Amino acid sequence: MNDLSEITNYLKGKKVRFADARENLFHEREILTEDTRVEHIDEQHVLGTGIKVLYENGWGYASTSAKDLDSLRKAADKALALAKHADKSASGKVELASEPKHVAKFVTKIKEDPLGVDIGDAVGVLIQAGETILKGKDVIKARGYLVLRNIKKKYANTEGSLIETNIYTVMPEIMAIARANGEVKSRHYRPSPMNAGYEYFRGLDLQPEAGRIAAQAREHCFAKACETGPATLILDPEHLSLTMHESVGHPTELDRVLGYEESCAGRSFATMDKLHKFKYGSEIVNLIADNTLEGGLASCGYDDEGVECQKWHIVKDGVLCGYGVNRELAHKMNLARANGTTKAANYFDVPITRIPNLYLAPGKKPLSFGELIADTENGIYIEGQGSFSIDQMRLNMQFGGDAFWEIKNGKLAGMLKNVTYNATSYEFWRACDAIADERFFKRSGTIICGKGDPMQLAQMTHGASPARFRNIMVRRSK
Ligand SMILES: [Zn+2]
Repeated sequence: MNDLSEITNYLKGKKVRFADARENLFHEREILTEDTRVEHIDEQHVLGTGIKVLYENGWGYASTSAKDLDSLRKAADKALALAKHADKSASGKVELASEPKHVAKFVTKIKEDPLGVDIGDAVGVLIQAGETILKGKDVIKARGYLVLRNIKKKYANTEGSLIETNIYTVMPEIMAIARANGEVKSRHYRPSPMNAGYEYFRGLDLQPEAGRIAAQAREHCFAKACETGPATLILDPEHLSLTMHESVGHPTELDRVLGYEESCAGRSFATMDKLHKFKYGSEIVNLIADNTLEGGLASCGYDDEGVECQKWHIVKDGVLCGYGVNRELAHKMNLARANGTTKAANYFDVPITRIPNLYLAPGKKPLSFGELIADTENGIYIEGQGSFSIDQMRLNMQFGGDAFWEIKNGKLAGMLKNVTYNATSYEFWRACDAIADERFFKRSGTIICGKGDPMQLAQMTHGASPARFRNIMVRRSK
């Protein structure tokens, strides 16, 4: 930390308005098994320091993988030179929201370091799941996947903040592929990815799930095709996790809303004139951002601008009421403070606004999943995530899923296949008329959210209870 403080003090002496230095370690192990063998094990260990400078109204950024003070100072000089250059063509005054000085540490609560455990342990568990999957009738392929991640950061800025964070992440997944009846279908089991220790993985019992997905992959091959037309959908938490990510998370990143970021379907229909007015969803829809959520993938104590992680509403009682906001754009919303969701993937990446942990609040009235199905005469129940697409304004969207069931006379009937649905983002959320209560809330999320150009990956938790959506256009995909 001393070297980082020395760099920010050095830059302070050069009359910068603001500067920060972030040492960033990204350590990841990815294990992929196929059938009963290891397909690959990939290990990444990326360590370096990024330095960001605001000089007058120009930003500069430079980084180095070297650790010595001389190299850090050279990177600081480069960032300063770039900032001075950028200032010459600056289009307006940069107003940086204030943030209290933090001298703090944040560490994921763990019992066992996921990257300290022998690789053979995880390989053994995944292969055992693969053996069970392969016993399934008509199963032709089994896959096991585990990502173990550790992100360590040290941060110092010219305002005196000194922050250390140490985040551990575990993301497991198994998959079965069956071939029968002229079809090939897959089925996944994705336990919630968590910021947690290896004990989380140890505590999972993959065996019964392995048997279940093998049977369901085969059953999917014999499923009847869905009908095209408007339908009632009941969506499970894992499925909703992707829907909210694409149709709420990304369009409410303020940098996208204001046109600062356009890559990867990068603009947004959720413009600021709609704030506190626009009906994003029905009255029962509350979408909450919470980077303080324990075990949440985006929970890291403090972000890469030195801002403390926070909790806020994106949609309250159906109305758009918040965005993910960095320190530079907070004043556009008359906010005194950014909300702590600006991150960089690696030391050489400039921090950008990222989707926070974002979840659909459970229904307030007691309602079980069974009651939700029983209360639905006809419809389709969708589990898991499949293909999706969304336009550049994040408005017109289409989603598939991992598995589909027909709902007939308030009961789950057989599986369906080739189901996709399409809607505009707000028509979809406005069509939500029932959400199961908190007993049925489940987390999901992603560790590969892509944004920026060059692209950076980030991780965030999502969550929901199963929810019902009326009159959604379903189309047969084949
Ligand atoms: Zn994303």
